Order: sequence, then C-alpha cells, then structure tokens
Amino acid sequence: MQAAARTDVGMVREQNEDAFYIGDNVFAVADGMGGHDAGEVASGIAVRMLRENKFNGADPEGWLRAVISEINAEIFRQASINPGYAGMGTTLTVLIIEGNRAYLGHVGDSRAYLLRDGMLRQLTDDHSVVGELLKRGVLTREEARFHPQRNIITRALGTFPQVDIDISSLDTRVGDRVLLCTDGLTSAVSDQELADILLSTHDPNQACNTLIDEANKRGGYDNTTVVVVYCS
Ligand code: MN
Repeated sequence: MQAAARTDVGMVREQNEDAFYIGDNVFAVADGMGGHDAGEVASGIAVRMLRENKFNGADPEGWLRAVISEINAEIFRQASINPGYAGMGTTLTVLIIEGNRAYLGHVGDSRAYLLRDGMLRQLTDDHSVVGELLKRGVLTREEARFHPQRNIITRALGTFPQVDIDISSLDTRVGDRVLLCTDGLTSAVSDQELADILLSTHDPNQACNTLIDEANKRGGYDNTTVVVVYCS
C-alpha cells in the first residue's frame, strides 16, 4: 500500500480550514467551517483526535463509530464554551485499510472514491441539500455539481451533541486506488477527470499534486485536500 496527501489553500481564500490525517492504515480528510479561525479549529480537533486515539486493529467499524462520536462531542463542547467558536463544525471522511478490506466512517460532503478497473465510483453519500436531491433522482450528477445550493451541508461534526455517522465497508483488490477529498476538488473537477488523473500515474504523490493543480487552475475558489491510497 502506498499513500500520499496534500492540502492547499487555493487561489481565493486566505485561510486553509481543511485538514488531513495519514496514519499506518488510517486516512482522513476534514473540511472545517465557522467564522474567523473556527473552521480550522474544528478540522484540527478531528485530525488531532484521530492521531491520539490510534486504531489498534480490532473492530474497525466500532472504532470508527466511537472516535467520530468523540470528535463530534469535543467540537460541540468547545463551540459551546467559547463564543468565538460558536457554530463551528467539520466534515470528516475516515478510511481504514485492514488486510483486503476497507472501512469508511463519514459525515458531511467530503468524499471517498474507488477507482477499480478504470472505473471511478463514489463510495460516500454527500450529506448536503444537493446530495439528497441527487439520491432521490431529482438532479443528475452534472446538475448537482453546478447547483447554486451545492455548498449547503445537512450533516457535520460539532453542530449537535449527537451525530449520525455513515459506516460502510468493502473488499479491496490489488490495483485499487482510493481517493479521499474535500469539496474544493469535486466542485472544480469532474468525476471523469478525477479518474483520468488517478490513472495517469503510479505515484500517489504525483496524483495528489495534479489533483490540486487542476482545482487551482479552475479558480481555486475553495481549499482543496486530497488523500490518495494505492492498494497493492
Ligand atoms: Mn470546502
């Protein structure tokens, strides 16, 4: 297994409120929101707590559920006691690769994708107004990508004391490529282009660089964060 990650502030914003985590076999992206530096604080809490509550190899789904619940509670707690942090929150998409199985814990509109046999498939649902319209078949993927309300998310960590967490798992195969990314990437670059970039190189670092460059070439209106894992 080879993994790489990169985050970039983009071409417009002054602060990067995204964050990522790379452990031995645990990977994550987070996209923080909130005034001033609160978004950065929220995504920073998520990444710090993933690092501190290291996955010990047992019960990946239980661990994902527990650690993401704790992150939610901690962000909510800090937002409640510090007026400057009121309303802060973050998305979080966490991937565990354990043997030939992958596990995902997910809240918000960051995404996990699987590239297998040249085909790209989104593994997560977007917890956004547009994501729900897409799921109900009201919008096409292309319409969703340019929808004016595409940035309104319906689920985040830190907003409420409790949160629903999407947990899923799948078998992995040699040659699989998994991409975790924040919406700065997916609002700028189409699924087909993501697939082409992931297929264009055997080096996950180079894939990360090309993905970020592409988002910035199209305006870089948001922070962009990517984690790329090549399974072997
Ligand atoms: Mn974003």
